[in-house]
Amino acid sequence: MNIVIGGGVGEHGRNCFYVEGQQASIMVDCGIMSEGDAHPYPRLTAEQISRVNWLLLTHSHQDHTAAYPWLVSQGFRGQVLASEETFAQLPFEVEKPCVIEAGQGLDLEQDLHVSCGRSGHCVGSLWYEIDFQGRRLLFSGDYTEDTLLYACDKLRGHWADIAFLDSSRNPVFGSAEALQMQILRAVTNTIREGRPVILPVPRHGRGLELMQLLYGIGHFRLDEDSQAARDAIPFQQEWFKQPLKDASSQGGSIYFIADTQLKKPGNRVLAERLVAEGGLLLLTGHAEDNSFSMRFVKRGEASIISYPTHASDRAVDLLCSLNSFAQVVRTHSERHPDPGPITLAD
Ligand SMILES: [Zn+2]
Ligand SMILES: [Zn+2]
Repeated sequence: MNIVIGGGVGEHGRNCFYVEGQQASIMVDCGIMSEGDAHPYPRLTAEQISRVNWLLLTHSHQDHTAAYPWLVSQGFRGQVLASEETFAQLPFEVEKPCVIEAGQGLDLEQDLHVSCGRSGHCVGSLWYEIDFQGRRLLFSGDYTEDTLLYACDKLRGHWADIAFLDSSRNPVFGSAEALQMQILRAVTNTIREGRPVILPVPRHGRGLELMQLLYGIGHFRLDEDSQAARDAIPFQQEWFKQPLKDASSQGGSIYFIADTQLKKPGNRVLAERLVAEGGLLLLTGHAEDNSFSMRFVKRGEASIISYPTHASDRAVDLLCSLNSFAQVVRTHSERHPDPGPITLAD
């Protein structure tokens, strides 16, 4: 069995894994690099793409899904498997959707069985265990056990011929707890000095975790999408391990802007104004090279402290010791090189 890494190993973005079967193939995720990239799509041929019967999406973020329209233009006609919440979050329609529930196992074809669990990264995010033509493959998706809010079905006691594990978080920046404490301290100090804090976050993901972390420190000012994510919680309770603390306190302003790269002109203007007034623009995730967020960083007007929504190298070492994976590929980071095409011997 041959596996081709279309992207997402040795780089941050473009997660895409192509598993070639005898008659048809399967694919896990189809992300892009940043939108400004000259060649943002997975490194796969139209012939490979048109052989794919099933595309499994781990979650809705663009580094895992945004190449879907391009795949269709390249001849993709397969079915798409994801959680109901992931389908609802996608900014495009999927032609042949098939819903899988967290914890469920499905026979998709005679030689293709998929089971899944919640990966702790955002509402709808899953890891997949795939039995395909006599081989078992495991994909962690974006995975973390260090959550304040999201439920994670921890990978324990699993086995696989090969496991693709999110190793995005660089442990030199400290443990998940240390990162959370750094963010808490930076925001607390800024608010105490009477200055506002601006937090660009994704529409789905760490924004809610940050609300939990920063509860009681200041007055939350949520934009429409952040408010919508918060309002949806009562209808998505199975994705959370505990309730979100219900309101923010009085005091200085903490802005949640659901626009990580500050693409929308209105958000840019707001950020410029608040920074000019002495506000702290705090980036808590990946900033794309040519983004407006990165422009603030380059001018020394933004700080970066990553919120731990990914597994670290150390967490992956632990996963390897608590499961039995014959081969491991560490994904989602420049630190771990792309091993090239992989062949699982028969
Ligand atoms: Zn993600
Ligand atoms: Zn990702």
